[in-house]
Amino acid sequence: MPYVPDEARYQTMPYRRCGRSGLQLPALSLGLWHNFGHIDALENARQILRLAFDRGITHFDLANNYGPPPGSAEENFGQILKSDFNGYRDELIISTKAGYGMWNGLYGNGGSRKYLMASLNQSLKRMQLDYVDIFYHHRPDPDTPLDETMTALADIVRQGKALYVGLSNYKPQEAADAFGILQHLGTPCLIHQPRYSLLDRWVEESLLDLLEEESVGCIPFSPLAQGLLTTKYLSGVPADSRAAKPHGHLQEAQLTPETLDKIRQLNELAQKRGQTLAQMALSWLLSDHRVTSVLLGVSKPEQLTDSLQCLNKLDFDDSELDAIDAICPV
Ligand code: NDP
Repeated sequence: MPYVPDEARYQTMPYRRCGRSGLQLPALSLGLWHNFGHIDALENARQILRLAFDRGITHFDLANNYGPPPGSAEENFGQILKSDFNGYRDELIISTKAGYGMWNGLYGNGGSRKYLMASLNQSLKRMQLDYVDIFYHHRPDPDTPLDETMTALADIVRQGKALYVGLSNYKPQEAADAFGILQHLGTPCLIHQPRYSLLDRWVEESLLDLLEEESVGCIPFSPLAQGLLTTKYLSGVPADSRAAKPHGHLQEAQLTPETLDKIRQLNELAQKRGQTLAQMALSWLLSDHRVTSVLLGVSKPEQLTDSLQCLNKLDFDDSELDAIDAICPV
């Protein structure tokens, strides 16, 4: 059946302006780190992408190394874009990244101009695109001068291969230095992508304040701590879960008694709010105005349907926030 997007797709999703830019992003975006590689079922990937777009998710986040094998998430995404989203490119914000090891030899890792330029060219080929909307440096590279990496990002924008640039996993001081260089080059950083969830609140120490001061957007990744912030691990490791998969990045060792205890307490709070734990974890991130969009991962369309309902209850009262702080201190 050819895909016809839902005509009502823009009616329920809130959109938030990304920093000081002209770009608005959906409150929820979709990431293709897991579940979109060649080892995964293409049909499931297609159903997730269709559902996401039908529900107002206009932003899809990739990286050169997503799969497995690395590169295959971009290939599958490119194939589905062609078959299903032909004619909708101008309604989509597509991002990719380079920064982790991608190919053999000296030039497939880090932050050199050589690596970033070559990697983006490869990503564009895999996705069958002329340009991406956002190109990220995926992680800081202490061995490459920051000037070189930032100049490569700015030049990529000048070449028309990306419209905006972003940074991921940069700590506050590294980020501040990079923002200054990018500003000077006339290509301000659009967005920062840090890990942030109820179980990992490091960004609240100073990164979020920096992003607000610098008018840079923020898109937290792993908002459910890779699935920990659900009830699925409360009585063991389900066979189809990320922690059970050999290629999954969530390790069983992360299911410590302390973490499971926090999850149980958070789940009780979520139930009192009339939400699933996943919904509450997402609502909580979005309750901070400094968060532009929250970057979801899902392995099934039903998870997306569940998570989207976080949008129905974004407010927290003081007693709920205090309870969360007591369970999950910064
Ligand atoms: P999450 O923390 O949201 O974890 C996603 C996993 O949680 C799913 O695969 C699924 O696990 C489970 N899940 C999701 N929704 C539900 C639900 N409603 N009910 C039950 N289980 C649910 O995000 P990710 O870790 O996947 O990260 C999201 C995106 O962030 C990535 O796709 C990527 O784009 C980006 N990212 C960026 C990084 C960077 O360095 N810049 C690093 C990591 C991620 P299961 O498989 O068990 O069903």
